[in-house]
Amino acid sequence: MTTREITDLEQTYVLGTYARAPFVLDHGQGCWVYDTDGAAYLDCMAGIAVNALGHADPELVAVLTEQAGKLWHVSNLYHSAPQARLAQKLCETSFADRVFFCNSGAEANEGALKFARKWAHDTYGPEKSAIVAFTGAFHGRTFGALAVTPREKYQAPFRPLLPGVRIAPFNDLAGTEAVMGDDVCAVIVEPVQGEGGIHPATPAFLAGLRELCDRHHALLIFDEIQCGLGRTGALWAYQGYGVTPDLLTAAKPLAGGLPMGAVLMTEAVADVMHPGDHGSTFAGGPLVASVAEAVLARVSDPAFLADVAAKGAYLRERLEEINSPHITEVRGVGLMLGADLDIPAADVVVAGYRHGLLMVNAGSNILRLVPPLVISREEIDLLVERLSGVFKEL
Ligand SMILES: *Cc1c(COP(=O)(O)O)cnc(C)c1O
Repeated sequence: MTTREITDLEQTYVLGTYARAPFVLDHGQGCWVYDTDGAAYLDCMAGIAVNALGHADPELVAVLTEQAGKLWHVSNLYHSAPQARLAQKLCETSFADRVFFCNSGAEANEGALKFARKWAHDTYGPEKSAIVAFTGAFHGRTFGALAVTPREKYQAPFRPLLPGVRIAPFNDLAGTEAVMGDDVCAVIVEPVQGEGGIHPATPAFLAGLRELCDRHHALLIFDEIQCGLGRTGALWAYQGYGVTPDLLTAAKPLAGGLPMGAVLMTEAVADVMHPGDHGSTFAGGPLVASVAEAVLARVSDPAFLADVAAKGAYLRERLEEINSPHITEVRGVGLMLGADLDIPAADVVVAGYRHGLLMVNAGSNILRLVPPLVISREEIDLLVERLSGVFKEL
């Protein structure tokens, strides 16, 4: 099929919920992807912070193909070794005692919110059901996750949403305290906001949320779907902050590009969940779980994490050197960086295609760089060189 045939077909039959790039990606290797016309792109967005180990990583391909010839899916009515081992490793590398598997980020947050409600319901009664979320947050598109994603454009057409949600100002402890009460069962927050524009929480804010949750007997949920699993240079972003949640949601890079999510939790939360209380047909299947095991083993290596932190600092420093009046601020943690622009970020993303760069915006005026964690310094240099070229042109 020609590129034109593919795009025409898709535009005819696939629901038009995405604004797509004007080319068709065909294959990839490491931090590079190639389109059907043979053009090469340096991948600086990793499928929206998903492909942590890049494309076609030989170890992941080997694990996947071996498991593919063995067993794909059995449902959660049966035990399976990859899921058991992955759960152990997730617990051993975090605060968690138990893991619930699911298939996406939104589903992980749905699970976390349901577990928090059940915990509060069983421990204190049904009146303790309010949920606090923050301005600028993004937690997903399903109804529960959408209710804690206070963006008018996303929410308005789908009301009524899940009731009992209170929105507090991000990074504003006094403003959060004003909406807290003993009727709150959970506070959900991204330690580093992703879609909202790459805004790291301040350490004092997260520590203050922990304290507020303890005072009001509420659970603290960290959504680490984008910032977790090595992206910030710590395996889990909370470890970099030194503030421990009661629940943590993970997804995007967990299975290296295959759909998978997880909810990590303490025993106190796990204790209220019993057979039949929640579930998923596909979740934690042997195919995705075996790949996730390999991903987690790689990204949890202290040397790997130190390298992410060093490369993140290097990329940030190099970005700050780009001499463009359009860049007003560069910020972020590790390899999760954003640049505030005085022009639409979409213009930079589109111009980037012509310079062989795949990038993504985060909000209308913020350019987001979340490359594969395996990006090399040479590739970072090339990224910066090409991006400088883009800004010269605009
Ligand atoms: C992407 C994202 C989600 C939603 O994940 P999906 O897999 O798209 O449902 C939730 N929270 C954060 C922080 C995200 O970045």
